[in-house]
Amino acid sequence: MGMGDAGWGMVDAVLRCAAPAPVDVRLATDAPAPILESTLLIPESTRRHAYLHAHPAAPDVWRITTPLPFAPRDVHAYLVRLQADRWMLVDGGIGTEEAWEALEAGVREVAGGWNGVCLHLITHMHRDHVGLAARALRAAPAPVAMGALDAERMAFAAAHPDDEAAYRADLLRRAGAPDEMVRAVEATISGSEALAPPVTADVLLRGVEGDVPGAPGWRWVWTPGHTAGHVSLHREADGVLIAGDAVLPRITPTLGVNRQRADPVGDYVAALERLEALAPVLVLGGHGAPAGPQRIRELREAAEAETEAVDACLADGPASTWQVVKRRYPRRELAPSTRMLAIRETRAHLDRLAAAGRAVVHPSPDGAELFARPA
Ligand SMILES: [Zn+2]
Repeated sequence: MGMGDAGWGMVDAVLRCAAPAPVDVRLATDAPAPILESTLLIPESTRRHAYLHAHPAAPDVWRITTPLPFAPRDVHAYLVRLQADRWMLVDGGIGTEEAWEALEAGVREVAGGWNGVCLHLITHMHRDHVGLAARALRAAPAPVAMGALDAERMAFAAAHPDDEAAYRADLLRRAGAPDEMVRAVEATISGSEALAPPVTADVLLRGVEGDVPGAPGWRWVWTPGHTAGHVSLHREADGVLIAGDAVLPRITPTLGVNRQRADPVGDYVAALERLEALAPVLVLGGHGAPAGPQRIRELREAAEAETEAVDACLADGPASTWQVVKRRYPRRELAPSTRMLAIRETRAHLDRLAAAGRAVVHPSPDGAELFARPA
């Protein structure tokens, strides 16, 4: 997560999803870390928590939880033992001092320090996952591996710092969002750099799946949707899946229009089908408690149901993306930080409907694009 503020999924899909079913207790015996149902409904939180200690999440896999300065309150990194004294770090945390202290304490507790960390794999480019990568690189000069599309997106953003703000502002205008929202979004973009200093990936994971270089027994799987280059990690021997934000236990990962992929919703559905085909036993996500494999199907069904829910919003006549958001959540005041996420996700579903011939797009005189069911 972590575009703008914590980037999370759509509320109704969340509320439909029950608590995660029990997972294999031999692999996951812990109490879940604190997690919010959805940041779309809950005010941003600045609560900090004490370091939780590294937690054994699966054989040779430890979970290190670090705090976030916004909801959800924390994010998980994983430390994976590859050989006796060789470790792979998966993600890290956001670029704050408190998060660094928590990550470092966990690495010291599990691996005895940074010396053994020989690979840093980042599931996706959001700042709560990549924000400590540059600092980790200084502590342990290990190669950084990432999905190619996310690595390229990060490099582009670092080279063109104003580009994302301009893209978002244009997206909001085309979505028919109010002017004050456009200005607020432009204001929040600047200053976020410090929470995720750029890092250059050494290993670009390109394609649909493959062996993780330098991590015998681990496969990477392209799981786009939440970001275009998101990857998950699968250990075939015992079915452990480290899923980043592709699979989360109690909320639906935000999907959103972007400039790299035409159909993020379709990408996500296909990614979850790939994960289902692997038949994992235990799913370790970037936030929240471990989940069982049924969660993958629940999220796939929720994504497809969301497209239908967005389509239903067009029954009342033509609407801009922003108007569809308001129809979709009629009695809710979305927090400012989540409006952008709601627009990007709703737009992704609208584009999907349009590509399938189930909606048509018309410009309106004020520059917004209006979606309607075909006549
Ligand atoms: Zn996240």
